[in-house]
Amino acid sequence: MKFEQTPRREAPKGGREGFDADTENKRVAFLEDAAKKYLEEDVVTVEWVENILEKVDFKEVRNIFAEHARHAGVPDEKLNFVWPDRFFVLSDEHASSTFLYDPFANAVVISGSLFRSQLESKQDDENIAQYFLFGLFHELAHITAENRLQITDEKQGEHSKMLNYADVGIICRSGFNKINVSDRAASFVMFEEAITQAVATEVGREYLRRRPLDVFDNRISSTKYDEFCKSGVERKMPRVLAGQMRHFRAAQGFFERLSEHVAKECGVPKDIANRAFIAAHYSGSDLTPELRELIDGIVGQGFIERLAGAQTKSDFEHIARTYKFAPISDSMSKKVLRFFGFALESNEKNR
Ligand SMILES: [Zn+2]
Repeated sequence: MKFEQTPRREAPKGGREGFDADTENKRVAFLEDAAKKYLEEDVVTVEWVENILEKVDFKEVRNIFAEHARHAGVPDEKLNFVWPDRFFVLSDEHASSTFLYDPFANAVVISGSLFRSQLESKQDDENIAQYFLFGLFHELAHITAENRLQITDEKQGEHSKMLNYADVGIICRSGFNKINVSDRAASFVMFEEAITQAVATEVGREYLRRRPLDVFDNRISSTKYDEFCKSGVERKMPRVLAGQMRHFRAAQGFFERLSEHVAKECGVPKDIANRAFIAAHYSGSDLTPELRELIDGIVGQGFIERLAGAQTKSDFEHIARTYKFAPISDSMSKKVLRFFGFALESNEKNR
């Protein structure tokens, strides 16, 4: 039976692979330089960011991510992580969103001007701090996923590494997300965002349970953060970005629905179904063929292809209409259980 030999049982993958140190060093030097320039024009924002970064216990944050990765069979030493020295506040030309993960530099880029617009808005500091934490845990959830760079065309690839996706010859994967630069094809972009946020919400909640964060005379608790992730983000983020949140929310809703369906049909708790997807985010750079076949079997033929291409709210609405999440057969349910059995098994082993 092929489900008994899934790649999960082979040597664990995970971590950050295929990125060379030379490119990373050059890229980091470039970001350091750009950050110095930005500091000259906007000390207030940079200091605000540094101040909150100092308050976060990164070691404890790493511990919690490592627990998730271990459940997925990724050993501690393989877990990719970044420390506060890899957070750079930069000007607009280098940062198109408030927070971005640059996999080549293994660094988080923060848009100084978008953040300044938050500081200058009428919001209180607590909300801005919540928004910062939302971004922080989200990017760390991308960072700790399996990130893999594959050069498919050496000549072009060498050239394009510094340019960050700007040329052909590179496949860049992060969790489920795969960007094939040669044909500009990207798959599972939004689905991966939904899984990333599921991890980020869980980790952030657990971190703040262990270490509530005191900022500006306010205490950010686990409960406050959880509420913020569920419904506060779009109201508190820069207006120019808020529109994108509806696609993000649609993807999250869809992921929850898919997990619920799998859980119900197979009689497992929903968080186990969730964890099976999260495990793939950590250990497998791509959806394994087994998981693909399984999900198509559960939801309907061709579903996975549709899901891979889904980018917007209407894409997700469309697949939800097309695929009705019908009851699955007993034999399919057995296959699914066998598959999730591995997730359960590795959960138990690592506890
Ligand atoms: Zn993201």
